[in-house]
Amino acid sequence: MKVAIIGLGSVGSAVATAVKNTGLVHEIALFDRDSIRARATAEDLGHATAFSHDVKITAVNNYRGIRGSEIVIIAAGANQKPGQTRTDLLIANNNVICDIVPRIMANVDSKKVKLIIVTNPLDVMVMVAQKISKLPPARVIGTGTMLDSARLRTILSRQLSVSTQSINAYVLGEHGDSSMINWSSACIGGVDLGTFCRQTKNNLPTTTRKTIEHRVHNSAYEIIKGRGATWDGIAGAVADLVRCIINDEQRILTVSTVDGVIVKDTALSMPRIVGNAGVLATLTPKMDAPESAALRRSAKIIRKNYDTIGKTSNSMAN
Ligand code: NAD
Repeated sequence: MKVAIIGLGSVGSAVATAVKNTGLVHEIALFDRDSIRARATAEDLGHATAFSHDVKITAVNNYRGIRGSEIVIIAAGANQKPGQTRTDLLIANNNVICDIVPRIMANVDSKKVKLIIVTNPLDVMVMVAQKISKLPPARVIGTGTMLDSARLRTILSRQLSVSTQSINAYVLGEHGDSSMINWSSACIGGVDLGTFCRQTKNNLPTTTRKTIEHRVHNSAYEIIKGRGATWDGIAGAVADLVRCIINDEQRILTVSTVDGVIVKDTALSMPRIVGNAGVLATLTPKMDAPESAALRRSAKIIRKNYDTIGKTSNSMAN
C-alpha cells in the first residue's frame, strides 16, 4: 500500500512517522511546497526505517510522484498561533485545499483513493475537499473529533482509574470550539457512566463534567501555548484511521464526512463505521435534549463558516 502525505510541518512529519510505524505501508510519498523540507524529512525518516521495517520514503517534487497512492493525507496549511481559533484559519486554508486537491485528483485513481483531511478548520476543509474532488463523501474523511474523543477518554481514564481502551465516550460535532460531549451514550465495560460510577464508588457530578468539558475544549490551546503546535495526538489519530482503512477493520471512529444527518450537506463528526471503502455507516447515539440542541448548533456553525467562504473568497470551487 502506498500512502501520500501533503504538508510536512509539525503535523505532517509526525503523521509520516506514525504511519510508517503501523508497518502496513510499503511506500510513503512526501510532498510539501517547501521541497527542501520535504527532502530533509524523507531523509531523516528514511534513516529511522533502518531500526524498524523497510518502508520506501520518497520526497516528491511534484504531484506525479504520488501516483499509485490509495490514501492521501492532507496536513498542509496554516496552523493556529497562540490565541487563534481554528476558524481563524478558514480563508487561508481554503486556498490551500483549493490548490492541492485538483493536483491530487489529477494523479490518483478516483475509483479507489481515500482522502484523509487533517487541515483546520477541519469540517469545512472536508466539505471543500469533497466538493472539489467530486469523490463520494464516504471517501473524503476528516479526522474530526477522533482526537477530541481521545482527549476525553484520557481524562476519564485518569479520573475513574480504568483503561482508555474500555471507555466508549464520544465528542461529536465540530472539531472546534462548538464540539459537544455526548455524555448520554458514554459507557464503560458495557454499563452506562452513572452505573459504572456507582459500582466502582466513583463520582462524576455535574461540576466535574463541566471541568472535563472545559479541559477537552481547551486542550489544543494549552498545548499550543506550551509547545507551539500540537502533533503527537493527531499523528496517533491519523495512524489509527489509516490502520482501520487498510485492514478493513470496520471499527467505529468519530470521523467527519459530508452527510445530512444533522444539517444538509454538512460535514461533522458522528460515530461512524470505517473500513476499506471509507465511511460505511453513521450512527446516531442516544442524546438528551440539550445534547441534541448542542449538536445541531455545532452543525449550523460549520455550515455558516462554509457559506462564509463562498462570500469572501474567489478560489472556492463552484
Ligand atoms: P506547519 O506550519 O508546521 O506546517 C504546514 C506545512 O504545510 C508547511 O510545511 C507548509 O510548507 C505546507 N504547505 C502550506 N501550503 C501548502 C501547499 N499549498 N502545498 C503544499 N504544502 C503546503 O503546520 P502544522 O502544525 O503542521 O499544522 C498543519 C495543519 O494541521 C494546520 O491546519 C493545523 O491547524 C492542523 N491540525 C489539525 C489537527 C486535527 O485534529 N485535525 C491537529 C493539529 C493540527
